[in-house]
Amino acid sequence: MTPDQEYVLKTVKARDVHFVRFWFTDVMGNMKSFAVNPNELEHAFEEGMGFDGSCINGFSDTAESDMLAFPDASTFQILPWRPDSNAVARMFCNIRTPEGEPFEGDSRLILSRVVQSVREAGYEANMGPEVEYFYFRDSKGTEVLDRGGYFDLTELDSGSDLRRDTVLALENMGIPVEYSHHESGPSQHEIDLRYSDACSMADAVMTYKMVVKEIAALHGVYASFMPKPLSDCPGSGMHVHLSLFDHDDRNAFFDPNDPLGHHLSSTAKHFIAGLLHYAPEFCLVTNQYVNSYKRLTGGKEAPAYVSWARSNRSTLVRIPGYRPSEEMACRVEMRNADPACNPYLAFAVMLAAGMAGIREQLPLPESSEGVNLSSLDPSKLRELGVQKLPLTLGNAIELFAESDLMKSVLGEHIHGYLVDAKSREWREYLKQVSPWELDRWLEVL
Ligand code: GLU
Ligand code: MG
Ligand code: MG
Repeated sequence: MTPDQEYVLKTVKARDVHFVRFWFTDVMGNMKSFAVNPNELEHAFEEGMGFDGSCINGFSDTAESDMLAFPDASTFQILPWRPDSNAVARMFCNIRTPEGEPFEGDSRLILSRVVQSVREAGYEANMGPEVEYFYFRDSKGTEVLDRGGYFDLTELDSGSDLRRDTVLALENMGIPVEYSHHESGPSQHEIDLRYSDACSMADAVMTYKMVVKEIAALHGVYASFMPKPLSDCPGSGMHVHLSLFDHDDRNAFFDPNDPLGHHLSSTAKHFIAGLLHYAPEFCLVTNQYVNSYKRLTGGKEAPAYVSWARSNRSTLVRIPGYRPSEEMACRVEMRNADPACNPYLAFAVMLAAGMAGIREQLPLPESSEGVNLSSLDPSKLRELGVQKLPLTLGNAIELFAESDLMKSVLGEHIHGYLVDAKSREWREYLKQVSPWELDRWLEVL
C-alpha cells in the first residue's frame, strides 16, 4: 500500500467517515459517483470497484459494460458540508477495463497523457481558471436574486454569504481561492482558483462546480453553469490562465526583452499562435452546447473572433497587463471556454493546441490592440485576416470532426462519441420551433 493509501485508511477511522464517494466524470463532464463502505477501501485500492459503464454517457455499450474504478488516494478529502459524525469523503477515480487496461473513455486519462507529453517536451503546465455562474431562485426558471453588477457589494449582492460559504468549503477541501466577486450580470458571480498543475486543477474545477451547487442548495437557491441563461445579459465564461514552467521552475513564457513589449518569450508566442490556430477545431470541447454559441456570438466580453491582444476583452486570447515585469505572473488568458465544459478535456485540448504551436513554430498573427472587432464589417475582417470562431454547434462539430489534432489528442473513442452525440443533439435542436419565432411571426405570416 502507498503512503497516501495508508493515510486514507487512518483518516477514515480518525474522522468517523462512513461513506467514501468515488468520483469520476463522463465524457460530457458530468460528475458520476457511488459510495463505498470504508471496509471495502483496501480491496478497492488493489483491485478497483466494479460498476456498470453502459449507464455512463460516452463509456461503453451494453455488450461490454463492466468497468473498474480505482480510487486515487492523493485526492482524498472530507466533504465539509456533510455531518461530522458518519462523515462523507471523496476520492477521484481512474477507470480501467476488466482486463486492467486504462479505459479510453476516461477523460482524466486523456488529460494525464497530454500532461505527460508536455513534460517530455520539457515543461510543466499551470492552469488558473476563472469560473462564472448565476444564482437563480430555483431550477425551474431564471428569477435572479439581485440586480447587482461587476464588483457590487452589500444590499445589491445577496450572493455574499453564498460566495463566502462556498470559498470556505473549497479552502477546507484544499482548493485555494484567489478572488471572488459579483460579476457583470444580475445574480452572476465569479470565483477564481489559484493556479496549479493541469490535472489537479481539472479535479478542482469538478469539485468547485459541485461545491457551488451544494452550498446554493443549502441556502435554498439554485446555481447554474449554463453558458448563456439570460438573453440580454452577459453569459458565463471559464477563462483559463495558462503558463509553462521549465524543469528549473522558470516561467518559459517570460522574456523581459520581448521586442513587442509584452514580456513574452518566443515559446509563449508560438503557444498563443497554436491556441489561435486550433481554437476553431477544439471549440466543440470547450463550448459543447447549443447554448454555448449564444454566449460566444452575443458580445458582452465573450470572444467571437480568433484574435489576441493585451487589453482588448473582445479577443480570444488576452495577455493580462498587470504586473507585466514579474516573471511568475506572466501568462496568457484563453477566454472562449465556458463552465459547462468537461475541464479534463478542455485543458487537454488547450495544452495540445499550444504545444502544437510550439512544435510547428506557428507565427503569431498581428494583435487586435484597440480594435473593436465586432464593429468591423466582414470585408474589413477578411482584409485583416481575422477568422471567426464557429457560430453554431453545427459549425463546431464540422470543424472538430475533420481535425487530426483532436483525433490524436482525444483518441478514437472520445472523438467518435462526441461527433455522434453532438450531431444528434444539433439535429434535434434544429427541428425545434422556438418561442422567439412564434412571437415574431405567428401573427404576421
Ligand atoms: N462573462 C464574460 C464571458 O462570457 C466575461 C467577463 C469578464 O471579462 O470577466 O466570458
Ligand atoms: Mg469574469
Ligand atoms: Mg478573465
